[in-house]
Amino acid sequence: MENRIPYKIYLEESELPKAWYNVRADMKKKPAPLLNPGTGKPMTLEELSVVFCEELAKQELDNENAYITIPEEILDFYKMYRPAPLVRAYFLEKALGTPAKIYYKFEGNNTSGSHKLNSAIAQAYYAKKQGLKGVTTETGAGQWGTALSMACSYFDLDCKVYMVKVSYEQKPFRREVMRTYGAAVTPSPSDTTKVGREILEKFPGTTGSLGCAISEAVEAAVSQEGYRYVLGSVLSQVLLHQSIIGLETMAACDKYDIKPDIIIGCAGGGSNLGGLISPFMGRKLRGEADYKFIAVEPASCPSLTRGKYAYDFCDTGMVCPLAKMYTLGSGFIPSPNHAGGLRYHGMSSVLSELYDEGLIEARSVEQTSVFEAAQYFARVEGTLPAPESSHAIRAAIDEALKCKETGEEKTILFGLTGTGYFDMVAYQKFNDGEMSDYIPTDEEIAKSLANLPDIK
Ligand SMILES: *Cc1c(COP(=O)(O)O)cnc(C)c1O
Repeated sequence: MENRIPYKIYLEESELPKAWYNVRADMKKKPAPLLNPGTGKPMTLEELSVVFCEELAKQELDNENAYITIPEEILDFYKMYRPAPLVRAYFLEKALGTPAKIYYKFEGNNTSGSHKLNSAIAQAYYAKKQGLKGVTTETGAGQWGTALSMACSYFDLDCKVYMVKVSYEQKPFRREVMRTYGAAVTPSPSDTTKVGREILEKFPGTTGSLGCAISEAVEAAVSQEGYRYVLGSVLSQVLLHQSIIGLETMAACDKYDIKPDIIIGCAGGGSNLGGLISPFMGRKLRGEADYKFIAVEPASCPSLTRGKYAYDFCDTGMVCPLAKMYTLGSGFIPSPNHAGGLRYHGMSSVLSELYDEGLIEARSVEQTSVFEAAQYFARVEGTLPAPESSHAIRAAIDEALKCKETGEEKTILFGLTGTGYFDMVAYQKFNDGEMSDYIPTDEEIAKSLANLPDIK
């Protein structure tokens, strides 16, 4: 092993970031604003504050301030599980026989098992500070709901989680972790909301989707006094909180003179990728450095690579503001054989804009090849990765193998967003050889896109 760079790099407490970085401040062309679905006009702070906590609504609208101070209470909570290590994947490099240097930022070192806690604690803090009783949310695979229930229990807030039905049934242990932290968990679509009842009537037997669960959670928030809705990805405020990932990574890279050429992240709604790349993108936008950024999405839910850049609903029930993003249409539901998470129909409007300008590349990968990469990684690097994270592993391995062919000594950095302990049903399918790939047809995507709202 090279002795200069340790296998795991941890920053000192004094080196931890004290402010989040808002990449929108450095974007020449800003992401398109959220629109009021009723009027078609940009959402005002007042309108957003009906659904979101006021401070978070302000962050959502803030395209100007590059740095936003992290409140002391949040910094204290971060100290329980941060800094996250930046790991030099020496074992993976050796196994692949590549001249590339591979690093990954590991966000799975907390009970919720993923990066989602970084934003959950911020959102719970602002809800508490506003004097709210509680928050409502949706969760797909369960990581967001788990993270939020931990954050709410820390600040003594009520937490109501609408969990996509298929995950509720497939991941009973996730549900129990949430309940252990005091959250109320309802499978979605449910008959507890108007929108849930409507969806059930229209699509009996549906296994649910994030879009449905969002609609239910929003309705539950706006119809109850003292509640607001919080969302674990997609929104610009979430990317802001997740910039802690990129800021720590950048500080560690600068400290050890590591210069990444390629930065890779899996992309569901875009929060981990956005958080990881934000400060590096800032350098790129300011002309200080150049990087190749790669977003990796599932072939079964390919919003960047096959979606359309257009205004769309963020949810199936069409109650949320409209966002301009790469989307497959808010009615898009990935095939039930899709096991690997990242099943949201749209992409963060910040990342969508950067992608549209050609500043980010995107590729899609099929789930069996993702699980092959996951299994390989688990065996050589020791960590059992989340299926979502394994999309990034797949692309990192592919890039490292290209370097092996060309002899280039590139530095590859990827985000390892979480652990796979709660995804054993998916691993079981893979291990039993029962996992298949499903790629939606052009017709299916076109059918879903035909329902985009008519906004130019
Ligand atoms: C939620 C999640 C993702 C995807 O969400 P993004 O907002 O795109 O980051 C990726 N990995 C893990 C482990 C997750 O829990």
